[in-house]
Amino acid sequence: MIRVVPLPYKIIEGNGYFPVPMGRGLTLDDFDHSARLTWLDFIKSENLVIDNVSDECYKLDIKENRVKIYAPTAVGAFYGFITLMQLSHTYEGKIPCMIIEDKPLYRYRGFLLDVARYFFSVKDVKKLADLLAIHKINKLHLHLTDDQGWRVEIKKYPLLATHGSERSRTNLNLKRQSGFFTQNDIREIVAYCKTRGIEVIPEIDMPGHVQSALACYPYLGCFDRNLPVAKSWGAKHDILCMGKESTYRFAYDVIDEIVDLFDSQYIHIGGDEVYLTRTAICPHCRQKMQEEGLESEKQLKYYFIKKICSYVQSKGKTPIVWNVAAPIDETTTGTLWQVWEPTHDAKALASELNRGKLVINSDSTHLYLDFPYGVTNLEKTYNSPPEIEYLAPDLMAGVECCLWTEYVPDLKKAIFLTLPRLGAICENMWSPKGVRLWGNFKARLGWYYDCMTSLGYEPAPLGRTLPNAYYSLVDGVKWNSRWLHWDGLHNTIDNALVARKAKKQAQTQQTDSQPPLPTTNESDDVDDASENLTQTNDDKDIDTAEETDPIE
Ligand SMILES: [Zn+2]
Repeated sequence: MIRVVPLPYKIIEGNGYFPVPMGRGLTLDDFDHSARLTWLDFIKSENLVIDNVSDECYKLDIKENRVKIYAPTAVGAFYGFITLMQLSHTYEGKIPCMIIEDKPLYRYRGFLLDVARYFFSVKDVKKLADLLAIHKINKLHLHLTDDQGWRVEIKKYPLLATHGSERSRTNLNLKRQSGFFTQNDIREIVAYCKTRGIEVIPEIDMPGHVQSALACYPYLGCFDRNLPVAKSWGAKHDILCMGKESTYRFAYDVIDEIVDLFDSQYIHIGGDEVYLTRTAICPHCRQKMQEEGLESEKQLKYYFIKKICSYVQSKGKTPIVWNVAAPIDETTTGTLWQVWEPTHDAKALASELNRGKLVINSDSTHLYLDFPYGVTNLEKTYNSPPEIEYLAPDLMAGVECCLWTEYVPDLKKAIFLTLPRLGAICENMWSPKGVRLWGNFKARLGWYYDCMTSLGYEPAPLGRTLPNAYYSLVDGVKWNSRWLHWDGLHNTIDNALVARKAKKQAQTQQTDSQPPLPTTNESDDVDDASENLTQTNDDKDIDTAEETDPIE
């Protein structure tokens, strides 16, 4: 049995062995200085095509006295080296002669790193990028902004980095959390990842998940509130005001700088978990709806997302959004849709997606690496298919696993959660369906652990990752209790405060031509606990309360 992850497309076994000359396993550093490897030839083979794939394919030919890697592109040659590197960490220094012909199952093989909840340094990101490269993953999706932190320098809005990256505590502990990437840091990460065959995709989440930006520039919100960078987990109700022109200017300005920093074909603009609590009672948003003939707050959200998609496209880039962002139409054609909950309202989702959306599968049930092993064990990860059952195969762009970090404070914990599950996931992304068998993967795990350890990574203990009734119970209770923090009582109270202010404003402006507050609100993506509170009577002045941090 060949010990490589992910398993190659085709293997032709030969006779004899190639002894690895340096008496140790190869490393990525050897690839960077491959001219020293006099026994290894990289051969540019422009005509090499393996089952219709040319740009990432390679052929690895291991003979008794030398090794040759044929590839049409630099990235194909790199993948050939990765396979050789893995082989060199086994067989006691003697690699069996063989010919491997290999190509990926999906072109888009992604890993999302959330640097917003906890910041990861350039050094940490590079170490993770090396790990992704070893698994032939070719997209690093950086979730750069969220309610809990803004982690990229934007020259036109300097407070985003200097103030928006300062979080006074997290759900995990009471420690201060800070840090951001300068524009030079980003360029360094992008250049480094490029040498590893990895495209870095930036995500600037909008119009929700922006409290860190509102903490810097209150005018970007509906009610100009003085808010802190969110301390607790969960999607916050204060979002970008989609009625103000200044919001669109802000979004365009940020995208302009992001386009210059990242050479990726893609820009992710989020669009998920958009609470419309503020939108429903905001005079600016209502005026915008009236001007544009939009019938609901949700329509205004779609209007916003489509405007941002169009802007990204005008820059020659392809937008990616979370699948709840907007329906498909001519504006969003070409957009990639990242689906994280494919079984939720599956019938409606199937109908929408099969209208021509190109989809990235990020099914949270097996592709979210922050889920503890007792909830998503290694066998479940391995056996979950990469494809979405109801989706036409030609609409599958690929697969992306996600590491959300509210409870992941450092690289050590990140690696603990990522390994060994990344080994299982990369095989789902790369290897053809017929060769993927749990028993075969399980038999390779001993070697896989040794290989990862010798390359400087510390996976979770194997016994912790396999199906286990005890861990299932303990992790299940712990994990579910975390969700109590997602949308707590503080939001309900906070919503009531804002609603009172809106009502008061509306009363003082009744002689003006402002449209009246709604008595009902269209069903939102998320439950809106404050909806009915917009109609309550309370004469208390809440301006003072609003100036303080929201209760969390
Ligand atoms: Zn507004």
